[in-house]
Amino acid sequence: MHYFSAKQFRDQFPAIHSQTIFLDSAATSLKPSLMSQASDDYYRYSGSSVYRGQSPEALTTTKNYELGRNRAAQLINAQSDKNIIWTRGTTESINLITQSYFRNNLAPNDEIIVSELEHHSNLLPWIILAQQTGAKIIKWPVNKHYTLDIESLKPRLSSRTKVVVITQMSNVTGFQPDIAQITLLAHSVGALIVVDGAQGVVHCPIDVSEMDIDFYAFSAHKLYGPTGLGVCYGKTELLAKMPPWHGGGKMLTEVNFEHFTPAPVPYCFEAGTPNIAGVIAFSAALEWLDTIDLPQSETYCCALIEYAYQQLKQLPGFICYSQPNSPLLAFNFAGIHFSDLGLLLTEQKIALRYGQHCAQPLMDAMAISGCLRISVMPYNDQQDIDKFINAVKFALSILNDEDE
Ligand code: PMP
Repeated sequence: MHYFSAKQFRDQFPAIHSQTIFLDSAATSLKPSLMSQASDDYYRYSGSSVYRGQSPEALTTTKNYELGRNRAAQLINAQSDKNIIWTRGTTESINLITQSYFRNNLAPNDEIIVSELEHHSNLLPWIILAQQTGAKIIKWPVNKHYTLDIESLKPRLSSRTKVVVITQMSNVTGFQPDIAQITLLAHSVGALIVVDGAQGVVHCPIDVSEMDIDFYAFSAHKLYGPTGLGVCYGKTELLAKMPPWHGGGKMLTEVNFEHFTPAPVPYCFEAGTPNIAGVIAFSAALEWLDTIDLPQSETYCCALIEYAYQQLKQLPGFICYSQPNSPLLAFNFAGIHFSDLGLLLTEQKIALRYGQHCAQPLMDAMAISGCLRISVMPYNDQQDIDKFINAVKFALSILNDEDE
């Protein structure tokens, strides 16, 4: 049974009651008490490792750790738990995919199509890979609305294309590309698809099996979980072809000085003692999230942003870069530097992001050096937006006054 009450949701998040108005969830979400409680309980009452000891605590810890993997698999409808590899976050997941799969499967002049919307985490690993393999990066540019046209992808696809790299949701514009259609097109020329789900998983978890996604990456910390934990999903047949990339304890079944045999997938990619508390805490967050009516909570978030937009657009010089019906809003005011406004908002205890949002190529395409962004989760409410709007008005009055 799924349910959403904004008030009850907000009550789960102690940090929302701090003096700062938190409008920076696209950077990282606030954490529900039950998440930190699960982590605390693990450290207080168990503290044992996974797959190592045989004590009752150690066995329970291993069971709970694997339950977390199962919940992550269910969230995105992976074929099995074995398709889920724990990493340190989206960034590490994408580096695992590039270094372990693609480095061994690309030849010089093979092509990697990367959209211009991408976060640096889904660009730099591909640039490094291209340097290592001689493969070429082909840019899929944004249009004048800062979205992507499927029509402009088609001529870029050919038998040389080996992979299409795409975000599920832009962290700047909130644009959500049509992943199902892009996947079909990529597959039609024999290319794979790699989806950066860092933002998308928070707002509309994807069905990787139904959509036939090859690789999918996301971070726990943006989805009510702890920092330093992420997921790399891969299709079974692709993971089977990947050599381990980190060597260490528990990623092998036998070793001597000449040779080692890797452990089965996914353990061969999880060398060393993992982030046990992180997985157990994320598992608790996912169990709770499973009770929430996500479409309803998402509608609530988009309505908050619409409420902000309707007021901002009445202020002179307002420029909006983000998509309607989105849980975030990227903007500038003509003639005002984003960092001047950002600083004045920060001083008024508004937590938001201003700068380049780890998306410099997109900033270049927009012909701006940066912008401001507010982003909400269902723990925000209308009063948060009211306080933000008042702070903007006050900041603008100072900045416009300086100009006179
Ligand atoms: N992709 C997108 C779209 C993001 O917004 C982020 C985080 N800002 C990342 C990738 C990287 O995530 P992480 O830093 O958790 O690895």
